[in-house]
Amino acid sequence: MAVKEHGADVALEVQAELGEGPVWDERRGRLFFVDIVGNRVHCFEPSTKAHRSFDVGRPVGCVVLRDDDGLLLAAHDTFFLVDEDGAGLELFAGPPVDGQLVRFNDGKVCPRGRLLAGTMDWAKQEPLGSLYLLGPDRRVSVLLEGVTISNGLAWSADGKTLYYVDTPLHRVDAFDFDLESGAIANRRTVAQVSDGAPDGMAIDAEGCLWVACWGGHRVLRVDPATGRALEAVRVPASQVSSVAFGGPDLGDLYITTAWEGLSPEQRASEPHAGDLFVARPGVAGLPSYRFKVP
Ligand code: CA
Repeated sequence: MAVKEHGADVALEVQAELGEGPVWDERRGRLFFVDIVGNRVHCFEPSTKAHRSFDVGRPVGCVVLRDDDGLLLAAHDTFFLVDEDGAGLELFAGPPVDGQLVRFNDGKVCPRGRLLAGTMDWAKQEPLGSLYLLGPDRRVSVLLEGVTISNGLAWSADGKTLYYVDTPLHRVDAFDFDLESGAIANRRTVAQVSDGAPDGMAIDAEGCLWVACWGGHRVLRVDPATGRALEAVRVPASQVSSVAFGGPDLGDLYITTAWEGLSPEQRASEPHAGDLFVARPGVAGLPSYRFKVP
């Protein structure tokens, strides 16, 4: 089936080895994202093109916003608090994660201000990972086990449905999400993704998912009610890792990419691999949630 296609422009030539996990800070008009294996958190202000980054000293799976304007990281096998400029890195909670086997990967804050973050097998082969729930009280619970590469997360506008990607399964699943407890139940598949492998994702104001396709050169807009791909953003880089809506009207779709896994020849043919892209798909996203610190 032919789908409507959009183009994407380079927003920032950042050449991240594994650019990932964009999140829009609407209070400051900035986009935060990570270079997981580059151990860095990046901050980009589109209105001024200002860009800065800081080194976390370990692989940083995701960065999320806090309601007190600081940041929360899931880095290697631990959760950290850090100031937005990278100062004051502080251990927040140490979940029961074996950092020899797995590392933290994608994570996102739920509508009630708790963090969901998952782990992945370093070797990307075995279901050694889990999806965790972290509360403001520093308590960590396991929501799901047997995950190989825990990736994209998104909630429906009412917060009652969680969409989730375990990348090697090549599908987007849904769970009932209990807003009070954070518990998940009733797993079912809502879409199959065969354009590369599904990675990070975001939801738009019409309830459709924008799914980054790793190895697929694109972001797909998928209707979870039917499983059909409705639109696509073509990206001039193959390793498309994640997306987030941002900008003053939440109508800019920011797209992270990577050069991880490319041969020198492939990298030479993809000079923008690892850069940050932006598209205007004509639909707005939903605002990101903030982690509530005690
Ligand atoms: Ca990812």
